[in-house]
Amino acid sequence: MANEIIEDLSRRTGYDIQSNTLSKTIYTPIEWEKMFSLYRGSGLGLAHGLNQIGAFRPANKDEYLNNVYYAGASTHPGTGLPIVVIGSRLVTEKITHEHPVI
Ligand SMILES: Cc1cc2nc3c(=O)[nH]c(=O)nc-3n(C[C@H](O)[C@H](O)[C@H](O)COP(=O)(O)OP(=O)(O)OC[C@H]3O[C@@H](n4cnc5c(N)ncnc54)[C@H](O)[C@@H]3O)c2cc1C
Repeated sequence: MANEIIEDLSRRTGYDIQSNTLSKTIYTPIEWEKMFSLYRGSGLGLAHGLNQIGAFRPANKDEYLNNVYYAGASTHPGTGLPIVVIGSRLVTEKITHEHPVI
């Protein structure tokens, strides 16, 4: 598959990538899982399908522990850098609201 991608890219750009490659490292979902603790090597976390968005997505607050919160791609609101950053801000606001420093 990697060779096909390289060939396709070479065709589209008109540049022979294969013969100008000095080194090549291939990462599959197996490496991603090992390197980054990503469930089944999924670089994008939970999908944004209907049954995994909004109220169906894992909440930012643990349902049993009162002082454990979650942020990131597989939690609410979802995947992608802007959304993850917005999510981290929402979690921060929730924490400071629910556990104000006196
Ligand atoms: C190929 C690819 C392209 C993408 N392109 C875009 C794009 O163009 N625009 C966009 O908005 N988003 C893009 N994304 C999505 C975006 O990168 C993710 O949604 C975002 O980085 C998720 O942020 P996160 O903080 O949840 O997780 P991550 O950024 O994955 O951070 C989690 C961190 O926790 C570390 N970690 C894991 N387990 C442990 C442990 N047990 N102890 C300590 N540390 C641990 C990991 O090493 C990692 O550094 C892309 C993703 C991929 C894979």
